Amino acid sequence: MAKIKKIDHVALVVGDIETALSFWRDALGLKLEHIQDAPREKSAIAFLPVGGVEVELVQPTSDDSGIAKYLEKRGPGMHHICLEVDDIEAMLTQLKEKDVQLIHKEPVLGDGGKKYAFIHPKAAFGVLVELYELP
Ligand code: ZN
Repeated sequence: MAKIKKIDHVALVVGDIETALSFWRDALGLKLEHIQDAPREKSAIAFLPVGGVEVELVQPTSDDSGIAKYLEKRGPGMHHICLEVDDIEAMLTQLKEKDVQLIHKEPVLGDGGKKYAFIHPKAAFGVLVELYELP
């Protein structure tokens, strides 16, 4: 049976990273590790590590991205939680057997060889859940 290892990151949608940093970095005192451009997701992502988990601030860089539409519809806030799993294929098989609604039925190959897949929020009581398997 596939196993969840830890929370990898929590992703928050923001309209503007610099503005959001006034809370996350300046008020809370979290360290900004770096800001990365994610052209595939048409967004920029700020990484703020906390105890082995990362808070990610995701800002859309184009009006037609999924993230931009999400922001327009719901405003800034929680976007998804990402769980690291030891075997993503096995986990997806396990979830399919339990009729869990998936956005990705097969893992998607991401940057640096990591594999990911999203679980539909309808299956997870309103929370978008991402699964990660690191290489
Ligand atoms: Zn993520």
